[in-house]
Amino acid sequence: MNKQRTLIFIKPDGVQRGLIGKIVSRFEQVGLKIVGLKFIFASKEKIIAHYPETEAWFRKVGQRTLTNYAKKGLDAKKIFKIDDPVEIGKIIKGWLINYLQESPIFLMVLEGYDCVETVRKLCGETIPALALAGTIRGDFSHDSIDLANEQNRPLRNVIHASETPEEAKKEINLWFSQNELFDYERADERFMYGKKIS
Ligand code: GDP
Repeated sequence: MNKQRTLIFIKPDGVQRGLIGKIVSRFEQVGLKIVGLKFIFASKEKIIAHYPETEAWFRKVGQRTLTNYAKKGLDAKKIFKIDDPVEIGKIIKGWLINYLQESPIFLMVLEGYDCVETVRKLCGETIPALALAGTIRGDFSHDSIDLANEQNRPLRNVIHASETPEEAKKEINLWFSQNELFDYERADERFMYGKKIS
């Protein structure tokens, strides 16, 4: 069976707003197992390593702004002085490095059947204004790209979650060592899955 692990962290806006308990309980209540957790001030080096330094990642992030601006009839050049998605993505990564050092962040490794996708679903869409009600980002924030960009900061969207199983492995290895991850049985596991998953 496809037992997976994934990584989340509650970003400074979630920590500063006192949302840790509420967010943790959302993962617990769907039956995901907490196999690691920590509360730390993230170093600049770790944050740089966390978000890919690839053209594809910069383009994805910059394109999100351009697509959103096109819908709203806004001009990216007014804020960024440029309209190249890769360069805009690099600027946003710089903002992320500062933002994620504003306060400690709360990290968890979660385990469950195909849990990477489940956890992304629980977190919701990247842009809080578009995230569905019932998701963490939809219920706890309503930030928008144009406001965030105007204030030269990343979207304050409460939480990060790994996007793919490969990304999850990389991110877990970056933030956790093997002896910080635990294997144990939850009381409800055999009732959720019929038997313990492997
Ligand atoms: P995620 O996987 O849903 O967190 O999204 P990404 O990996 O694409 O982006 C990383 C983070 O950068 C997001 O969670 C936001 O905090 C921020 N971000 C992404 N796109 C934009 C944008 O267009 N403008 C601003 N200001 N921040 C953004």
